[in-house]
Amino acid sequence: MLTLPHQFFLTAERYANKPALRWKSGDEYRDLTYAQVAQAVRAVAAAFLQAGLRPHDRVALLSENRPEWVMADLGIMLAGGVVVPIHTTFSARLAAAVLADSGSRFLVASSADQLDKVAALREELPHLEKVISLELCPPSLPANFCRTWDDFLEQGRRSGIHSFPRVNPRDVCSILYTSGTTGEPKGVTLTHDNFQANAHAALQAIPMNDRDVLLSFLPLSHVFERLGGYYAPVVGAGGTVAFARSVKDLAKNLLEVRPTILIAVPRLFEKIHETAWQTARSKGSLALKLFRWAFRQRPGTPGHFLADRLVFRRLRARFGGRLRFAISGGAALSPELAHFFARAGIPILEGYGMTETSPVISVNRVDRNKVGTVGLPLEGVKVRLAGDGEILIQGPNLTPGYWGKPEATRELIDREGWLHTGDLGFLDDDGFLTISGRKKEILVTAAGKNVWPDPIERKLEISPFIAQSMVVGDGQIQLGALIVPEWEALEPALRELGLDPSARETALADARVRELFRREIDQTTADVAEYERIARFALLPREFSQDREEITPTMKKSRKVIAEHFRQDIESLYPARKIPH
Ligand code: AMP
Repeated sequence: MLTLPHQFFLTAERYANKPALRWKSGDEYRDLTYAQVAQAVRAVAAAFLQAGLRPHDRVALLSENRPEWVMADLGIMLAGGVVVPIHTTFSARLAAAVLADSGSRFLVASSADQLDKVAALREELPHLEKVISLELCPPSLPANFCRTWDDFLEQGRRSGIHSFPRVNPRDVCSILYTSGTTGEPKGVTLTHDNFQANAHAALQAIPMNDRDVLLSFLPLSHVFERLGGYYAPVVGAGGTVAFARSVKDLAKNLLEVRPTILIAVPRLFEKIHETAWQTARSKGSLALKLFRWAFRQRPGTPGHFLADRLVFRRLRARFGGRLRFAISGGAALSPELAHFFARAGIPILEGYGMTETSPVISVNRVDRNKVGTVGLPLEGVKVRLAGDGEILIQGPNLTPGYWGKPEATRELIDREGWLHTGDLGFLDDDGFLTISGRKKEILVTAAGKNVWPDPIERKLEISPFIAQSMVVGDGQIQLGALIVPEWEALEPALRELGLDPSARETALADARVRELFRREIDQTTADVAEYERIARFALLPREFSQDREEITPTMKKSRKVIAEHFRQDIESLYPARKIPH
């Protein structure tokens, strides 16, 4: 196979004058054509070679999504370097840990905020020789240590370097740090071949072509967006990718970009679902009745046709009105949400993968979408189930291993070449994969029943009053839950009860508020098994946050950290016992 930059150059030749990237500058979206991006990629590579980059040197990339992310990524690889993306949400400590572990010689960073992280810990980073700032160089960094991107590229253009080192597609081209839900970040190495194989197979499964426009808002530092929202559409298919200005601006950017495909995580659909209900509610009881009625109509009936005109079309308009389908991955999507959007004419194709598999393992197809499953394995990807139900994978998308951690690599990939995902699941007669739990997250009740907390939490979070939740109770007779209220939705209810929403702790201790949550918990989890019932709960005054490392950059709950931080709340659920979790 070709390296990623060479694959991109082929696509860029074919679609030279088509917009490849679109980004918001001031109030307007602007385009960069394939030819322009290709030229910038060559300039980046030349600049790095001129600066002394040697084959396999690591270059860290710490930036929000923007065109320079793509130019830097492909440029570093063209020069023979290895790209080390760092999540912009990483604390200074974690960012420094990644720079140190990868031994990065260079760092491309987006803003003074990001660079300040490095400035604080520079002493601990002897390998780091230079930073390139996409904006200005901050005063916290010595002048000879920081260069601006524009200067750096100009130097590349003037260097006269037009030929680039031969790079073997089997070589590692990127190291991706997963924060994991425990411990220090671990670097997953991936090769050009890994990404290429995965992008090709993904494009066989999902119809994506040069007429497609994607709106990219998940961080490119996460492999799901990088493959699904950049390598597949831009390096592979010749489509256009527009960058959302920020998650906050997403609703507005959807209307401006009018994407045909959206790559998202379940949380986005939860939010839109919540907003849709809230809007219907705020318009009064008639509007709410109409909304409820619309979602009861069966496709193909006159009622559904009417519902489409009156309700669904408006919902589709929130996405810009041209969306063909959305892809959801990274965490489990609740079937209720998938059905809700499908009814409204927005099919969500759920997929499954992990960083170590570049990342896609399986995905549903437009013409074969089985809600509740994570779809069919990609072409070339073999899925097998171990005796205990763990999902094992083989295929051209498997990482060669963790960076500098042979022991961890041996634990990940067994002698026969099967990668152990840590996820539990099963295949149905049609070959669709269902994820039924995570090996490490299973709770075992005192009665010996195995409970996977995630599906119960997803049910709870469907309630408009529940923003986040964590089910606990390992070794206990009854399950409990930590519940983070959705304050925006809760405030009107609190006022009605004569409570002050700004005095959160007092409000949450009120018996009527607890009663409200009791009802919400019972309603949303009405269909769980008896032993999965949430018998106890604690209401938390603040949400789980990324800053406190309770949520990973890929939006997963760090159960250990949450359990530590809310130890007292958990203990209050089980007063007589010590909590092993
Ligand atoms: P990461 O490497 O951070 O992307 O995390 C990979 C993990 O996310 C997998 O091992 C799964 O546990 C989880 N995951 C990804 N997609 C899904 C999905 N559709 N349903 C359930 N879990 C998922």
